[in-house]
Amino acid sequence: MQKLALIGLGASGLFALKELAGADVEVHVFDVGPTYEKRYACPIDQGKLTVCPPKACSYCAPGQSAGSWNDFKVILSASPVIGGRLYDLVGEAELQKRLDMVRATILQHAPCEIPVVKPNAEDLEWIKKKATMASMTYHYQELLHCGSDNAPAINTSILNEIKSKGSNIVFHFDKKVVSVARRNEKFAVRSDRYRKPEEEVEDIFDLCIVSVGRGGAAWLTQQEFYKALDINPGQVDIGIRVETSAFFTEEVDRRFYEPKLYYRSRHSNDVVRNFCSNPKGFVTPENHRDYVLVNGHSKMYEKSENNNFAVLVSKTFTRPFKNPQMYSQTIAKIANMLAGGGPLVQRLGDLKAGRRTKSLTNNLIKPTLEAECGDISLAYPHRILESIVEYLDAFDKICPGVAGESTLLYAPECKSYPDSISVNKNMETNVPNLFIIGDSSSWTRGVGQAATSGILAGEGVRQKLKVGMPAASKLVPVS
Ligand SMILES: Cc1cc2nc3c(=O)[nH]c(=O)nc-3n(C[C@H](O)[C@H](O)[C@H](O)COP(=O)(O)OP(=O)(O)OC[C@H]3O[C@@H](n4cnc5c(N)ncnc54)[C@H](O)[C@@H]3O)c2cc1C
Repeated sequence: MQKLALIGLGASGLFALKELAGADVEVHVFDVGPTYEKRYACPIDQGKLTVCPPKACSYCAPGQSAGSWNDFKVILSASPVIGGRLYDLVGEAELQKRLDMVRATILQHAPCEIPVVKPNAEDLEWIKKKATMASMTYHYQELLHCGSDNAPAINTSILNEIKSKGSNIVFHFDKKVVSVARRNEKFAVRSDRYRKPEEEVEDIFDLCIVSVGRGGAAWLTQQEFYKALDINPGQVDIGIRVETSAFFTEEVDRRFYEPKLYYRSRHSNDVVRNFCSNPKGFVTPENHRDYVLVNGHSKMYEKSENNNFAVLVSKTFTRPFKNPQMYSQTIAKIANMLAGGGPLVQRLGDLKAGRRTKSLTNNLIKPTLEAECGDISLAYPHRILESIVEYLDAFDKICPGVAGESTLLYAPECKSYPDSISVNKNMETNVPNLFIIGDSSSWTRGVGQAATSGILAGEGVRQKLKVGMPAASKLVPVS
């Protein structure tokens, strides 16, 4: 029997594994995290801690499949702009087909009824008119919001079903893959215990699926095969987490949960977008060990009085600059430095007036995250902040009050994506039998498309096993 290494059991790895359960291949799954039953809820959320532990914990760190455990909002629409770029890779119909499979799996394993958020004709008419009047573009999406509280049950139930069908699968939890190197036509995979290393072992595999997420992006660049891949530098999103009253946004929240609204900045021509809305949710820290970002989440049952969402400015760079990830991390570290190690918070009114925020004691909006009051303009480039302020002023035309003086801005909310890797329609790279899926391939940016890329790879492997493993078919170049 052929042997396959699946490295990373996050959103994409889980759905690849689902396709491979019972297939005619011996699958070895490696993940630095513990078994799903042992992955814990955010200790801050549970009131056990007030600040993040010095090491990133398995709840929030992107290396630990954050989105499938944290908020767990799944975009279900095949869109050319939302959730990733698989639309460019496989086209609308093929993408929608796989997203429908993801939807069906999640709903089947949910412990309670989870409504699909789907705007009706009247909602669409309403938002198109409002958005146009505000110089914004609305992008249609349907989504599932599972909530952080339902995430463990759903993921565990999917994995249990895979285990029951997959006598061909061997699990290596708490195991870090140290390196992957080509050995003739095969792959030498070295792994070790994650917590107490020094028991390194090597095994040889015929096929390899890499699904290490954004958290594993730096690791990926260190691997022997990396230089053989066809790659382009990735994109970064520099932004702010906005927290405002849920009263201001209640109409769009009710109609859409999260309307995707894009805006082109007047002064810089940069595209600005909203991302990850959390009506009645909470702002949270996102601990990356050497810097702390902000993020947000919401729950099915426990609610706050606020809404939080990100406003992001996307940047790509041209030669000679090749390290966009370093750029966004440097901005994040400056913001952390000014805040004494964590996130900064500033009132929108203070930012517009060019002064620092000193206290939030009498502020209309009460923060859901304790962050250091300060001045974000000391850390962020003017071009980025100006575009974010323009975006909020435009959004205020749809949700009056959002751009009010008391609205809170948290920084840093920076997202860096791995280099863009050319793959074929089954996520196979130009290195034959090496598949790179999910966010580490840079083709996906959220749970829905990450899971879809896993399904595509699983299908590709099954196809190869059937026809006797020919070399990779035509690659789709990075855009
Ligand atoms: C705080 C936060 C909240 C988010 N919320 C949402 C949301 O609500 N909706 C949404 O669509 N997206 C959300 N996202 C994004 C989402 O998490 C990712 O897009 C998605 O998880 C990508 O899936 P993936 O399989 O590529 O990677 P991941 O899900 O990150 O999985 C990678 C896996 O690889 C393992 N791994 C990494 N390196 C190694 C190694 N060397 N050896 C062994 N194992 C390794 C990790 O332990 C992990 O299990 C959120 C992200 C963050 C950080």
